[in-house]
Amino acid sequence: MKLITRVSDLPPALADSVTKEESDFVDTLQAKGILPFAVTSYYADLANKEIQASLVAARTSGALNPTSGAQRHGDVLRRQFFPSPEEARILPYELEDPLGEVHFRVAPRLVHQYRDRVLLLANGTCAGYCRHCFRRSWTSTLQGFITPEELEPVKAYLSAHPEVREVLVSGGDPLMGSDNRLAELFTALRDARPGILLRIGSRIPIMAPERITADLVALLRHYRPLRLILHINHSKELALEVRSALSCLIEAGIPVHTQTVLLRGVNDTALELAELFRELLDLGVTPYYLFQGDLAPGTSHFRVNLERALSIYQELTRLISGLGLPAFAVDLPGGGGKVHLHPGCIEGEDEDPSGQVWYLLRSRDNTLWRYPKESN
Ligand SMILES: *Cc1c(COP(=O)(O)O)cnc(C)c1O
Repeated sequence: MKLITRVSDLPPALADSVTKEESDFVDTLQAKGILPFAVTSYYADLANKEIQASLVAARTSGALNPTSGAQRHGDVLRRQFFPSPEEARILPYELEDPLGEVHFRVAPRLVHQYRDRVLLLANGTCAGYCRHCFRRSWTSTLQGFITPEELEPVKAYLSAHPEVREVLVSGGDPLMGSDNRLAELFTALRDARPGILLRIGSRIPIMAPERITADLVALLRHYRPLRLILHINHSKELALEVRSALSCLIEAGIPVHTQTVLLRGVNDTALELAELFRELLDLGVTPYYLFQGDLAPGTSHFRVNLERALSIYQELTRLISGLGLPAFAVDLPGGGGKVHLHPGCIEGEDEDPSGQVWYLLRSRDNTLWRYPKESN
């Protein structure tokens, strides 16, 4: 897997599209403690092709230079991995730990929020950093794969908590680990709790489909019951290599589900979402969650106003089969947990002394939580 971490190593059309302001911003990421810039050369090539195609389209239609201005056309892939100076704008209500995971941490890297499942942050790195990452405060620290020592308290917790039936193996991206380390991890989890369901969260099949080797597929197959939850946001991410990687997994009997983040300027139309979910359904992949944006620091340019988001989702329900319709959900900021969103779920509004308006949403335990009313 080849990673690009410098603007100068990007393929040509992509490199040409980078403005001075953007490349200056990339140079300051480390000093500012912001999530680093990295993308696989595979995904960068895909984004490069997208930009080239939009340049050709613009030339033939006589439109203005599409690479000028912050909101280009043909940049739904670029926008997801290339840092934007807008990330430096941190709103007062954005949170280092937007989901409030700290309240449910039962061991280092282990979060137990819902009765029968735990979340394990198995690895801190990714094959490219999504600029909308909600766990960016943690992923930017680039922690490595969980060590055998770190696994001890996890195993002890699982042994002591028979109510836990499922481990979400997430990160970061766990599939960044070698086959050996993955096998050690899965063996340890199953030693602690035979038969426990493994749910692997990953973006690797999209970012680096070559990582889905026959050996890895056999390994995942060996550790069934196991399900893969793929992070995917746009139909343009379903390139040929990605489709064949997904087919290999599905043909091996590994159920693949998806989670998608509603992202302004990437997938915030019902038509695009319908296209993505239909294509996933045709591949045998089950759309699972569509997430409203979390309040991660410096991500407001990606968030869609909640009322607009609800109307996009409502339109989506009219466009696609129920089989392809993921649940629309938000993690209530500060630890309120996941709630499903539907028209009518906003129970009221509340204005705080600073003038910020909040929507009131009801959590699963029947209490009211706030989510900000934003402008776009
Ligand atoms: C999202 C999440 C889960 C899984 O919830 P599901 O509704 O089963 O998908 C489990 N634990 C934590 C901490 C989560 O954030």
